[in-house]
Amino acid sequence: MSERKKLLQVIDLKLHFPIYGGLLRRQVGAVKAVDGVTFDIFEGETLGIVGESGCGKSTAGRAVLRLYETTAGSILIDGVDIATLSQEELRKKRPAMQMVFQDPQASLNPRMTVAGIIGEPLDEHTNWPRAKKLERIYELMDAVGLNRDFANRYPHAFSGGQRQRIGIARALALNPRFIVCDEPIAALDVSIQAQVVNLLEELQEQFGLTYMFISHDLSMVRHIADRVAVMYLGKIVELAPVSRLYDHPAHPYTEALLSAVPEPDPSLERRKDRIVLQGDVPSPANPPKGCNFCTRCPKVMDICRETEPVTVEVAPGHFAACHLIPQTAGQTGGAEVEHNQTRIQQGEVV
Ligand code: SF4
Repeated sequence: MSERKKLLQVIDLKLHFPIYGGLLRRQVGAVKAVDGVTFDIFEGETLGIVGESGCGKSTAGRAVLRLYETTAGSILIDGVDIATLSQEELRKKRPAMQMVFQDPQASLNPRMTVAGIIGEPLDEHTNWPRAKKLERIYELMDAVGLNRDFANRYPHAFSGGQRQRIGIARALALNPRFIVCDEPIAALDVSIQAQVVNLLEELQEQFGLTYMFISHDLSMVRHIADRVAVMYLGKIVELAPVSRLYDHPAHPYTEALLSAVPEPDPSLERRKDRIVLQGDVPSPANPPKGCNFCTRCPKVMDICRETEPVTVEVAPGHFAACHLIPQTAGQTGGAEVEHNQTRIQQGEVV
């Protein structure tokens, strides 16, 4: 993985929404929706982003495409920091980076035909003659499995799955290299979720796409992602290759999320220990002192309420931020860390 080219490098990205109050409408605080996240996405890979509602994953996806103005940090695409580009320079970069939205119903203009919707980015970014645009629209409809005969129909005539195919075709119109898929299957019937995920995988293979796949569905993320980042209250608390994360989670929040994923095998499901988190995610306008997760963590210690844990490399390519992980984790290796975690849980000081 380390020899592969990094398409995207996000460094200490922050997105704070100001809160105004008082008679003079002065800024009295900020909602720290994304609060210092750092990660890379390699060319051709899928990075899954998981976490509960309100953890900042969708905001991070939009911030990475600069659909929101960022508060601090860098977003390097091919080495160019798009966080600092002017609107005109950003417009030139737009074709390379696109988004597939959660709710195809809400993201498609009901007054435009399918051809109009899919061709909109071509109208915006090319001077192609009408015939060439129409040929491209047909090509895209073929690529996502939509019948060309439906090009003049309106979105309401389609099912949820077909509408999402229209949204995907629109995202592909300008030959992007990078697509943020923001909960692309959450609004769809379970029966067609797998079809849409399979289509995304086929298109990735066909066009060499790189995905940031945002979802709260950990089973689907396990299926599609190469690596996974777990977000909690605006921060990445753990990031690892997919099999490593699901088989050896290092952070108590990841453990809790995984414990809630149903097992297909009923006998395994019966034996599984669920970790039920108490309380709600705290407000990102007023995060707790120390570790963000300290108000709900089943393994909380005194230090967690005082000091924010630093991110350490638990094993090659596996990062987590938790005081249970010794600072020397990267040098000692994952097995050693797991052993140390057990010792800490048993009351020993490692
Ligand atoms: Fe839990 Fe403490 Fe680790 Fe935070 S640092 S996840 S509160 S054990």
